[in-house]
Amino acid sequence: MTQGTAPRRNPLAFVEAEVEELKAKHLYRPLRVMSAAQGPVTVVDGREVISLSSNDYLGLTHHPRLREAALRAIGEYGVGSGAVRTIAGTMTEHEALEAELAEFKGVEAVLTFQSGFTANTGVIPTITGEQDLIVSDALNHASIIDGMRLSKAPRKVFPHADVAALREILHEAAEKGRPDGSGPYRLILVVTDGVFSMDGDIAPLPGIVEAAEEVGAAVFIDDAHASGVLGRDGRGTVDHFGLKGRVDIQVGTMSKAMGVLGGYVASTQALRDFMTQRARPFLFSTSHPPADAAACREAIRVMQAEPWRIERLWASTKRFKAELTRLGFDTGRSETPITPVIVGDSEAAIRFSGRLFEEGVFATSVVFPTVALDQARLRTIVTAALSDEQLDRALEAFDRVGRELGVIAA
Ligand code: PMP
Repeated sequence: MTQGTAPRRNPLAFVEAEVEELKAKHLYRPLRVMSAAQGPVTVVDGREVISLSSNDYLGLTHHPRLREAALRAIGEYGVGSGAVRTIAGTMTEHEALEAELAEFKGVEAVLTFQSGFTANTGVIPTITGEQDLIVSDALNHASIIDGMRLSKAPRKVFPHADVAALREILHEAAEKGRPDGSGPYRLILVVTDGVFSMDGDIAPLPGIVEAAEEVGAAVFIDDAHASGVLGRDGRGTVDHFGLKGRVDIQVGTMSKAMGVLGGYVASTQALRDFMTQRARPFLFSTSHPPADAAACREAIRVMQAEPWRIERLWASTKRFKAELTRLGFDTGRSETPITPVIVGDSEAAIRFSGRLFEEGVFATSVVFPTVALDQARLRTIVTAALSDEQLDRALEAFDRVGRELGVIAA
């Protein structure tokens, strides 16, 4: 074969065009780079800022007890596990973490995954197939959606938090059975976030559980933003509503309030056993470094030993929301520390975030397609680590910049 002299055509040229299009539509968001530890005050793109953007609800990312636990584990085991769990990557730290999580959550057994994302994409396709039906809230997280896409099960979506619509879908599915007339579904799985990550509202779990029980469906909750935030010592949405024993599968994350990284599925011993044989991210991706597992174990202890953190989280959340509302901002339907400040179009949200940043407040914008086109917003999260003085400074900046840009009346 002869080598041509013409310049090589770039087969990826369309990617540049895609990026240019995003920029032209003001939908492109450059990555902000932190050069200090996560915390109430951090350094982003070289500027010291008050951070309202992390999921570090309880301020555990930099907690001394978690650091020490991680360092101890590094001293003992090194930095990596070296294999997937099913080959040579299961260490005592992993097993101990799972036993402690199971006890904390009050369930039979827990299996950990590398992230909350992989927990969802691991468990959903493992337990559902063509003979099943998944019924999902319209605003469920991307990892649930991807988990459903990886499943052969048909799915139905109910309008966000609409228990009446869910009930109707469930009763029809239970009565009619599978669309090809081959009989009833093996499993009907109702899937919902516990706390919705963009709006900060809590799923109407008591109603969901009741509707599911009427037809013998299973309930699956993704508690990423409820872990460490809702329920006793942060046990989650099921504990918050007193629904112990009535929710079949709880997914949690260790990447947010627990301050480290990882996801888990809390359920029965049988489900844990089955996932160890079938869940693809578990089977085909290397397990956590032992230091991460050790830090997560310490996080569970700190959450119980320092209840002031969750109390502080909620007290600051209430104050921050009340002040934003008093200033005239639209914080949507939030009931939790996730507090959206809804601005409208994406350009306005990006500009608002940029001006706040100049004023020393880091509040990231969230735009389409993560939220609807006209629902662009700043997504703020108050953490237990923020002082009253830092919150006041942040609120002053919101007031000043909000009036300057016409987000609130001048
Ligand atoms: N589920 C929900 C509802 C989430 O908000 C997130 C994180 N954005 C995840 C799952 C994924 O968790 P992780 O960051 O641990 O992968």
